[in-house]
Formats: sequence, C-alpha cells, structure tokens
Amino acid sequence: MTADINMSSLRKFTVAELETLTGRENAAVAYRGKVYDISAFIDKHPGGARQLLLTAGRDITTIFEVYHDKNTRSLFSSKCKLIGTLEDSPVEIKTVEEDKLFLTLEKRVRDYFKANNIDPKIHIPYFCASYFVLLCTILLWFSAIVLVYLGYSLLLCCALALLSGFCAAISAITGSHDLSHFSWTHSPLVWKMVGTLYSCVHGIGTYTWHYQHVVGHHSNPNHDILDPDVATKDKDVWRITPFQSYFSHYSYQHIYMPILYCIMSVKLKLQDFHLLYLLRTANVPINPPSLEEVSIFVCIKVVHVFYRWVLPGFYISLPQLFLLNLLSELIMGSWVAHITLVNHVNLQLSWYTKDSPSYSTLSWSEMIIQTTADYATNSVLWNFVTGGLNLQVLHHMFPWVLSFNLRLLVPILKETLDEFGVKYHYYDTFWEIWKAHVEYLRQMGEMKLSGKLTGEPRASDKVKND
Ligand SMILES: [Zn+2]
Repeated sequence: MTADINMSSLRKFTVAELETLTGRENAAVAYRGKVYDISAFIDKHPGGARQLLLTAGRDITTIFEVYHDKNTRSLFSSKCKLIGTLEDSPVEIKTVEEDKLFLTLEKRVRDYFKANNIDPKIHIPYFCASYFVLLCTILLWFSAIVLVYLGYSLLLCCALALLSGFCAAISAITGSHDLSHFSWTHSPLVWKMVGTLYSCVHGIGTYTWHYQHVVGHHSNPNHDILDPDVATKDKDVWRITPFQSYFSHYSYQHIYMPILYCIMSVKLKLQDFHLLYLLRTANVPINPPSLEEVSIFVCIKVVHVFYRWVLPGFYISLPQLFLLNLLSELIMGSWVAHITLVNHVNLQLSWYTKDSPSYSTLSWSEMIIQTTADYATNSVLWNFVTGGLNLQVLHHMFPWVLSFNLRLLVPILKETLDEFGVKYHYYDTFWEIWKAHVEYLRQMGEMKLSGKLTGEPRASDKVKND
C-alpha cells in the first residue's frame, strides 16, 4: 500500500532518468506523477511481459488506463513498487479517472459486451476473412510472377500485382493493426506469432510500429509533441498543423499529397531501420530492443525481401520484378495512407501543442473527439476494408476491442455524446470525408485555417449525431 508513504521523502526522477529504466531488471514507469518499479511484475502481467516492457521508461498514465478496466486500474499501486515522483514532465499526460464522458462510455461498453455475452476480442468470421485476404496477398503475388515466367500478358500480371497490393493493405489494417493493439484474441502468444506472420507478408516491423502508433499516436492524436504519426517540421513536404510556417509549395499540396500517399508503404518499410537506429520516433523514445525483438525484426525483413525480390528474381527479369513490386507498393501505400489520414487530418478537427489554450482544461475523451472524425459507421463493408478505422473515435477510446466489434458500439457512442452535448464529427461516406480531407489540405496550403485550430472547437462544425 502507498498511503503511509511520505511523498516528500521519495526520490525525484527526471524524464531523462526514467527513460533509462527499460530493462527487465530495472524497468520503471510513471503513473499519475509517481514512479513505480515494475520489474518484479513483468512476468506476472496477465497481458504478457512483452507488452509491459514496451511501456517501460515512460509515463503510462493514459495508455494504462485506457487498456485496463476500473478494477485493474485500482490495483496498480498494490502490484508495483512506488520508488519516487516524476519531476520535469514537459507535457501533461492525461488521466481518464476524472473524465466523466469516458467513464460513462466505458461502463456502457463493458456492460454491453457482458449483457450480450459477446467477447470483445473475438469474431471468428472476421478472423477467417482477414486470413483469407492475407492468403490472397501471397497467392496473387506468386500468380503474377508465374504468369510472367510463362509468358502471359504483362498487363494481366500487373493487374494481379495491383490486386495483391490491395489485399496486402486490407490485411495490414485488419490483422496487423488489431494484433498490434492486442485486440485479436486474448493470447499474448497469438499477438506475437500471428503478428510476426502478418508482418513478414507486409514487410513492416512490429516493434517500432508499437511505439509510433500504439504508444505515441493513440493516446494523443494531433498533438505536435506526443503524436509521431503527424509529426511535422516547420518546413515540410506538407502543412497540416497551424504551428507550421507557410511556404509557397504548400499551395499545391492538395494536388500532390494524395499522389505522394502512394509511397507510404515503402516509407514504412524503410523507416523501421532508421527508427531502430535512432531509438526514437519523433519525440517518443523507443526502448532498446531485446535480442528476441531484434531476431523478430530481422526475420520479418529477410522473409519479406526473400518472397518479394529474391525468389521471383530467379525466374523473371529485374525490370519485370521491379514493375510488379512498384505497382503492388503503390496501391498498398495509397490505401493505407488514405485510410489512416482522413480521420485526423480534416476540416472539422483540432490540433494541440502543450501551450494550446484549452489543452490543460480538456478531458482526454474530449481531445479524442475534437481530433477525430468517423464515416460510414453503418457499413459492414467499410468496417472491414478500413480495419475498423472508419470508427476511429471508438477505436481510440477502446483499442482493446477487436475493430470489427466496434460497429456494435456506435449507438452507445452517439447516445452518450448527445447526452453530454458533445459534437461527433461524422461523414456519411468515405467520399465525403476524403473530399473534406483534400479541402483541408487546400485551405492549409493557402493559410486560410492558420491560427484557428489551437484546440478550440470551431463554431462552423457540423453537428450530426444521428
Ligand atoms: Zn490503432
């Protein structure tokens, strides 16, 4: 118990000191301003040692609370040893414990699954469909290679390579994404083994992705310090935040960015190496990987290069192989980029930095809703082909729920937001949200939205909670 501890006598940790405490023997985390030694608990963690070690060396307040229920949250201080306080955190990490909207939604969501006897992490037809698409990715790829080898029309082979790339995108945002959030079954072994299998097919490493997406982006979308997914330089290829200066090339960004999205998958496959070298993704530190994590990373890259380049290289010419790989990557990159960007980089949404006027007064759930838009929530097809990312608000709040089960929660979300008088940023179709995304790029490129998006809800926002 921590009640009897004299807080003033505790050791004071700096953020830099905490970042060094990531090994199995000395792992520590900060939670609600206090620093805890978690090393004795690593092998007892019901969610697996790997998952706990991922979060070592940092402030876990939001991510821990979002992934655990109220009872588990209350047990934290009894499971881990209090060793000090965190002194110089540059940004406030939000807690959900006083977040009435989140707590109400969470209770309703957990009650819903219980009352309807639905396991939030299981949906067998969805698993089968995702495995089938993963299989199609491989079969279509090798079909293209074999048909080129047998002298069939190159056009037909290009079409197969494109289809393979599209299947790769769908399986990445269904299987890989759910597995990275530990929402695909309850088994840490499945998360690791099946996650590695998916990654071998896509070629994107799981280790750095966890820091980029699960640790960084998820708790703090559209935050210029805490969200690596939208980290931008002052002079960048695009201007998406009001914190960037204006340069003339941004005037064309609504034209060239949707085309540049095509290189997203190649970028993700290559930036893994750089991030592992830097041990940092934007401002989020990446813990030094264990030998096992390095082995998994090498395995993913070797298997991927072997099946995409080495093996086909024995049978078809390099220019032919290059063309097929290029087409497959372009379609995969385009789909993944569009699906992951339209929800956060859009007209109705807000951006934060630690100095944003309303950042410290906003609850965590309000921040999620103001930085995220949903679309086509009633469509089972869109729910599948976007891996549930058309339901980003629910996905951010309940990442432990399998993406395909999120659609069951839409009525609860809408009803609760109405009750709390909170706007839900929603578009009926993907086409509508895509148009708004491109229009946002155009307006930011012309500085029309400069200075308006510092965390305040905008008066012109469309309210559509029905
Ligand atoms: Zn996610």
